[in-house]
Amino acid sequence: MVNEEKIALENDVLSYVREFADKEIRPIARKIDEEANVPKELINKMIDMGLFSSYIPEEYGGNSLSFSFLVRVIEEISRACPSTALVLDGALTLFAEPLLMFGSEELKKKYLSRVARGSVGGLAITEPGAGSDAASIKTRAVRKGSNYIVNGSKIFVSNGRIAEFFVFDAVTDPSKGHRGITTFVAESSYPGIRISRDIHKMGIRGSSTVEIVFEDAVIPVENIVGSEDDGFRVVMETLDAGRIGIAAQAVGIAQGALDEAMAYIKERKQFGKAIAEFEGIQFMLAEMGTELEASRLLTYNAASKWDKHESCIMESSMAKLHASDSAMRITTDCVQLFGGYGYTTDFDAERHMRDAKITQIYEGTNQIQRVIIAREMLKASK
Ligand SMILES: Cc1cc2nc3c(=O)[nH]c(=O)nc-3n(C[C@H](O)[C@H](O)[C@H](O)COP(=O)(O)OP(=O)(O)OC[C@H]3O[C@@H](n4cnc5c(N)ncnc54)[C@H](O)[C@@H]3O)c2cc1C
Repeated sequence: MVNEEKIALENDVLSYVREFADKEIRPIARKIDEEANVPKELINKMIDMGLFSSYIPEEYGGNSLSFSFLVRVIEEISRACPSTALVLDGALTLFAEPLLMFGSEELKKKYLSRVARGSVGGLAITEPGAGSDAASIKTRAVRKGSNYIVNGSKIFVSNGRIAEFFVFDAVTDPSKGHRGITTFVAESSYPGIRISRDIHKMGIRGSSTVEIVFEDAVIPVENIVGSEDDGFRVVMETLDAGRIGIAAQAVGIAQGALDEAMAYIKERKQFGKAIAEFEGIQFMLAEMGTELEASRLLTYNAASKWDKHESCIMESSMAKLHASDSAMRITTDCVQLFGGYGYTTDFDAERHMRDAKITQIYEGTNQIQRVIIAREMLKASK
């Protein structure tokens, strides 16, 4: 497909995605939150629309659409329901991306084709004792013949209950610190791997988050993503892409909240006029609109660099930091614009605020994003 044809196709699909989000996801977003479940029928519709295959290269059964396109899809779906967006985001940016970057041809053929057909994947890095300090993981993989025997546990695995497979990291050489970590693909059905508990959350409640335990799990050597002892690089580079996805999720959540607040302030009357006519309210709107636009531009810029295979560690962290902090401020202000009603479950303003909070925490907290941004700035100024 030539570039112009691809852009036209992406724009076409995006308009369908927006309509799908408005008509089929938004009306049930409250139910998804209350029942803590994204219905299988909704996931099937995303598969039928070609969203899972979109970002997978043609040679593995996909459509080779761009990362920028994927980011805009995540944004559109997150406007209605970020839990639903995370199903797709997890499968593509967290599971497929490390295979695309580092996987052997066999792994790509085996797993990317399944993602293109709609299988959900995830990424399991965080452990009970190792969050921000991702190099301090304890899960251990010991080589035995043509397999590794894995013991340990991973916490906060998104898509946990619905993932058919996931990428995870484990220590293969404890004497080498972060240079002794290897990344693997595991199928959820492998013997020795089990979900030990579901984690109940404040927001993105429709997304399944679990703790996984490895008890003498047997992982074939050919499931290594990249090479032995080089897995820390694999997970770190995966997060560079993942953070752009989270930035897009934050932009979508903030936009969804702002759209609803805008409609409300034009309707709600106090002191004889619509509250949108008060300057105090208009100044809030101006701040929110400007912050949101800056977030969107940072996000699209990082995605476009990722598409061009340009280094974007700093841009990805800046997008995630700004978009998530803004989403938290915007959704909090949206609750304010609804007054007392914003604090109730009669409106979605409170859900957007709860959903926004996670974007400041996962795929590296915003404190860690600041560490990364400053480190990259100092490196560049040498
Ligand atoms: C809903 C949800 C879904 C998730 N999904 C996934 C997933 O799919 N896969 C996965 O692997 N993980 C996932 N995570 C884990 C997430 O990425 C971690 O929770 C996050 O990286 C923070 O780690 P922690 O919770 O251990 O916090 P900690 O690292 O213990 O941090 C606690 C606090 O200390 C601060 N802090 C830590 N170090 C520093 C420092 N150097 N400077 C300043 N402040 C610091 C942090 O910013 C934070 O405020 C998920 C988490 C949640 C809640």
